[in-house]
Amino acid sequence: MHPLPILESVLTCPHCGFAAVEVMPTDACLYFYECTSCRTVLRPKTGDCCVFCSYGSVKCPPIQMVIEVQGKNVKPADKPDSVQLHTLASVPK
Ligand SMILES: [Zn+2]
Repeated sequence: MHPLPILESVLTCPHCGFAAVEVMPTDACLYFYECTSCRTVLRPKTGDCCVFCSYGSVKCPPIQMVIEVQGKNVKPADKPDSVQLHTLASVPK
């Protein structure tokens, strides 16, 4: 078990190599980020949804959630909780 989503990402500027820890917004993608060192405005690479996916150490929260859901779908269906719920529901009053 690991907590998701991770909200802190280390953005590394491709121009000057400066790395800054930035907190990612969970309700929006960040398309533009100005490097605090060289003032270069970073934009997402082609195919990436935000600057964190392109230059960050951690993918943005929406992407993390997609990866998490896909991972769960791959795992075999083993739900002891639903079995227990079914048993409780079928107990006569
Ligand atoms: Zn920079």
